[in-house]
Amino acid sequence: SGRLSGKHVLLTAAGAGIGRATALAFAREGAKVLATDIDSSALNSLAKEHSSIATQVLDVTHPDNIEALVRASDPFDVLFNCAGYVHAGSILDTDDAGWRRSFTINVDSMFHLCKAVLPGMLERGKGSIINMASVASSIKGVPNRFAYSATKAAVIGLTRSIAADFVARGVRCNAICPGTVKTPSLGERVRALGGDEAAHWRSFAERQPMGRLGEPEEIAALALYLASDESAFTTGAIHIVDGGWSN
Ligand code: NAD
Repeated sequence: SGRLSGKHVLLTAAGAGIGRATALAFAREGAKVLATDIDSSALNSLAKEHSSIATQVLDVTHPDNIEALVRASDPFDVLFNCAGYVHAGSILDTDDAGWRRSFTINVDSMFHLCKAVLPGMLERGKGSIINMASVASSIKGVPNRFAYSATKAAVIGLTRSIAADFVARGVRCNAICPGTVKTPSLGERVRALGGDEAAHWRSFAERQPMGRLGEPEEIAALALYLASDESAFTTGAIHIVDGGWSN
């Protein structure tokens, strides 16, 4: 038995970074995990790490595939919407395609996943939805994160709205807002900046008053709390885990 024993959990973007750390944390606490990602080799290596992790390729930008997956699965107790895309630049650097892509991956995906999973939760009168937002959102203006921050503010809005609509029917919906976390995609952002990579790593670390990056496991610990019944009294809340960045 564990903190999530008996719970069936669906995760997106579970192949790497925060999603992967969370899939492992959930499985270790007794959940039956369906880990999804677009990267099938990342999923295969994840499945080898724990026997209660099943995997399926899912691109969150394909609503038909989302519906088919949910229809073919046992009902879910927990949905962790982790998939997200970081567009870099100010409004002047953002074209329509970058703006659209940001909303398709970060926001439309959550609309479709929440809508697909909710009926099963409502039928059984229980469920916890966890949506990945960011401190770069309605919480804080961050340079060169124009489209990204707009999408993550939208995630906060849709989270609070779902929480308000279903609070009396046993379904909770919360958002997680991390500061800067050490994940593969952060490494890509550092490399994309070019020049002195060590200096870029330092400046990402120094954004947090704690002077360091977050670890994926530190975000997974919060997701684990929100997935478990320990958090039964919190819904529609914005859970910040950011090394003091937004303070
Ligand atoms: P990551 O790059 O480490 O992992 C991302 C995973 O998403 C990869 O396995 C990738 O294959 C998968 N993916 C990409 N496009 C997908 C799609 N269309 N459908 C399904 N899966 C897809 O990412 P991360 O840094 O752990 O970020 C996870 C989430 O956390 C994102 O929503 C991100 O915005 C958010 N976040 C990250 C940070 C950070 O500093 N890393 C901070 C705040 C919020």
